[in-house]
Amino acid sequence: MPAFSSAQSRDINYHLHPYTNAVAHQKIGPRIIERGVGIYVYDEQGNKYLEAMAGLWSVAVGFGEPRLGEAAARQMRKLPYYHTFTHKSHAPSIELAEKLVGYTQGRMSRAFFTNSGSEANDTVVKLVWYYNNALGRAQKKKIIARQRGYHGVTVASASLTGLAANHRDFDLPLPQMKHTSCPHFYRQGRPGETEEDFATRMASDLEALILEEGPETVAAFIGEPVMGAGGVIIPPRTYWSKIQAVCRKYDLLIIADEVITGFGRLGTRFGSEAFGIEPDIMVLSKQITSSYQPLAAVLLSPEVTAVIADHSAALGTFGHGYTTSGHPVAAAVAIENLNIIDERGLVENAAATGAIMQAALLELAGHPLVGEVRGMGLIAGVELVADKESRRPFDPLGATGAAIYERAQENGLIVRGIQDTIAFCPPLIITPDQVADMVALFRKTLDEVH
Ligand code: PLP
Repeated sequence: MPAFSSAQSRDINYHLHPYTNAVAHQKIGPRIIERGVGIYVYDEQGNKYLEAMAGLWSVAVGFGEPRLGEAAARQMRKLPYYHTFTHKSHAPSIELAEKLVGYTQGRMSRAFFTNSGSEANDTVVKLVWYYNNALGRAQKKKIIARQRGYHGVTVASASLTGLAANHRDFDLPLPQMKHTSCPHFYRQGRPGETEEDFATRMASDLEALILEEGPETVAAFIGEPVMGAGGVIIPPRTYWSKIQAVCRKYDLLIIADEVITGFGRLGTRFGSEAFGIEPDIMVLSKQITSSYQPLAAVLLSPEVTAVIADHSAALGTFGHGYTTSGHPVAAAVAIENLNIIDERGLVENAAATGAIMQAALLELAGHPLVGEVRGMGLIAGVELVADKESRRPFDPLGATGAAIYERAQENGLIVRGIQDTIAFCPPLIITPDQVADMVALFRKTLDEVH
């Protein structure tokens, strides 16, 4: 048994952690992170880590950005809380809604606020149902998501998520949620199939599922432009246009879950721009405040807005909302954070430094443990294999996988292990020199465990 600090022991005794093996936690103990500066965080022993995951894909402007603390303090002093129910509002929520809608250049016309990405997707499910009730289509309620997609953990959003761990023993998914194929060419592509053919097959799979369920029962399709938590899966270039055509053919709403890809991650402001997606609903969170405050937003197209507005007028009210929807402190932090992203050109940095990161990671492709390196902008996945030729999966729960993850931390590098893939998603402020350090630390880790 390692000797635990007081904080570690108390954590073990009192804290049930999200996404953690509770029994293993008692043995391993937590790393207590005390402070952060730029792309680095420090634990209570003073060890420094290059945070190559920006926390949970989210700290765009880096850790310890003083302007965000100041924005929060200013708003705390002026109006620490007020709600947005029943015809009340306040300046930060108004300014943020206007700013978000403005970024979409007319594609979206309203923003609805929640506290987390999961709640935002839960809200989306309810809005899709409400929308179809408003149109008198009581049957059109199913939502198609994808295997390995990630949309959160509430009852509805976990049902959209396409990962076994989020369903197993939680009695999920809900019956209205269906899952179609995952566009992971390296794993799902057939021998001799081109990426273009593969994209066509993915669209045919979607169409077949819609026809099997009955198009009159299917309301929407939801996807992340690039899958994050499912293993950083970059779809083929033409995937989204083909999927979109199927959705339009059967009158499905298109929901872009941009919780990770929003605000520059792929080198464009939104992932939808990068792939030519024309969503009816967009979901934003994480980088919206650099996760300094909990906040998410659901953006609605003018057409969806109009249907929902008319229906709520007919019913007397729109019966949905959270005590802290559009929280003034969170909204003030979001506005300042988005200003920093614009002023410092962080979307452009994600494109430019992202290209450098992709090239540097690709140099690892020859390593015996590396099956595939894939990525876009400042997000990447390195898929590990036990055998390069046969692509035999590398077991991330096995001794070697755990060793890579742990060894990286011993080397001062925080990455994320997702099944066979090691994910990289550093803060958008990362510099080319820091990218070189990050990749060198990862190469060292791979060499040590090989
Ligand atoms: N959607 C996507 C694409 C995500 O990556 C996440 C979280 O990682 C969520 C939704 C859920 O967000 P939250 O953890 O804030 O509930």
